[in-house]
This record gives sequence, C-alpha cells and structure tokens, in this order.
Amino acid sequence: MLGRTHLAAAVFLAVLFFSIYSYDSITNVFLLFLFVIGSLFPDVDSARSILGRKIKIISFIFKHRGFFHSIFALVLFSLLLGLLFKPIAGIVFASGFTLHIVMDAITKEGIHILGFKIQGPIKVGSITEHVFYLVLLVASLIFMII
Ligand SMILES: [Zn+2]
Repeated sequence: MLGRTHLAAAVFLAVLFFSIYSYDSITNVFLLFLFVIGSLFPDVDSARSILGRKIKIISFIFKHRGFFHSIFALVLFSLLLGLLFKPIAGIVFASGFTLHIVMDAITKEGIHILGFKIQGPIKVGSITEHVFYLVLLVASLIFMII
C-alpha cells in the first residue's frame, strides 16, 4: 500500500484507541508517534517511501518487502525500542508494524512470511486503494467528532 494509506489506517486505529483509552496528552502524542512510525517503518526499504526517502542507503542494501517486512525485523526493532524506552513503546511500535504487514498482505503484490506468500485483491495505487484511503480518512474524522 501507499504510505499515505498506511498513515491513514494508523491514524484511524489511533483515533479508535484513544476514544477508549486515554493517557495524559504527552503520552498520547508519544504513543501516536510510535504507532505511526511503526506503521510506516517497514517501507524504509523502498527509496520512494516516506521514510525511505530520508534514509536511502537502506533501499540500496535491502530489497523491498524483504527483511524489513519480516517477523524477525518486527521482533528485533520492537524489542530494541522496548529496551531503549519502556516495554509499552515496543508494543505500540510492534502494533503499527503489524498493521503495515497486514495491509501489505491484502495487496496483489503481497508479502512473504515464514516462506509463504500472502497476497490479496488490492493493487497498490489502484482506485480501490484510493477509495480505501478516503474511507479511512472519513471514518477518522467521524470518530474524532463523535
Ligand atoms: Zn510495505
């Protein structure tokens, strides 16, 4: 999926989460930041992605939807964050990372997990993805208002 669709999905789920659980505002911003970064992080292996444009060296070394879209990377980077900050930081990052993997798994391009290719019906950048993106935006706005 496109970065903006990953971002819209992360914001939508964050809005839902914060409508149920809410911490102090600094913690909310920190958790939202980690969740959004987690949801964008796997595409750091693409030179055209939001994060990949900032750290181009990674896309020269790793192929897109390879290591950075693996369970090993999910566990590794989530553990590092959990150890560097607090366990909740790793858990929130892992949740965003998992959201990214699930969303990529419903695309025609799919992902490879533990030797299995998982793919779905949505073509990246297609009208279906654009509609999905708009639905996520509208749903986020509705949940922010109510
Ligand atoms: Zn991806």
